Amino acid sequence: MNRTPIIAGNWKMFKTAKEAAAFVGEVKGKAEVEGVQSVICAPFTALPALVEAVKGTTLKVGAQNLHFEDNGAYTGEISGVMLNDLGVDFVIIGHSERRAYFAETDETVSKKVHAAFRHHLIPIVCVGEKLEEREAGQTKEVCRVQTEAAFDGLAATEAAQVVVAYEPIWAIGTGKSSTAEDANEVIGYIRSVIRDMFDDNTAQQVRIQYGGSVKPANIREYMSQPEIDGALVGGASLEPASYIALVEGA
Ligand code: PGA
Repeated sequence: MNRTPIIAGNWKMFKTAKEAAAFVGEVKGKAEVEGVQSVICAPFTALPALVEAVKGTTLKVGAQNLHFEDNGAYTGEISGVMLNDLGVDFVIIGHSERRAYFAETDETVSKKVHAAFRHHLIPIVCVGEKLEEREAGQTKEVCRVQTEAAFDGLAATEAAQVVVAYEPIWAIGTGKSSTAEDANEVIGYIRSVIRDMFDDNTAQQVRIQYGGSVKPANIREYMSQPEIDGALVGGASLEPASYIALVEGA
């Protein structure tokens, strides 16, 4: 199965609209490599400027969250209707920071994945274990439960389009990355969970990224692993030169 590698920059709570547009000015033509999908996931306020800036390029734009209802009395929330209206293509769902600080659960993740598909957004669903779970030998079990929730109730045609980001929480923003072999093993396991829920053909189409302290110096190591289809990158996606190097490394 030939899966198109996908590099997604997760800017988290960084960059204004102006900074986002300037970033695209610097990376366009360079962070565009044939056969690699390149997605910038920005704060909501930068999305309109980004969508405008990437016109005429192969770069795609993603949000970092959405609400699972389409509209209603949810002060401060943004829905899939609104993201689709802006021209956004991707949305990160269930990032560990949202699970830890904003009370996201496997149940809200599942509802958000369905909301994404209702509005033609491709979900990038994050799964991954905490340090104490890894040390207790629970990595696969944690990833299985989170993956099953994320894919619950999807049609196989939808499931095949989901992007999963395996991000061991202890590796995020810490400089301590998982070894490529370890990440490959867990990602292969996640694929087997998807196979058990759907079928082999569907599982082979799902792109599964590694995330957690990925940088230009280690991207090639991850990409050389057969199960790893790209990376979700925080810190190293903020500088144009570094982002370009990541896309080139994929
Ligand atoms: P990091 O973040 O690359 O800064 O470790 C990854 C993420 O949180 O998606």
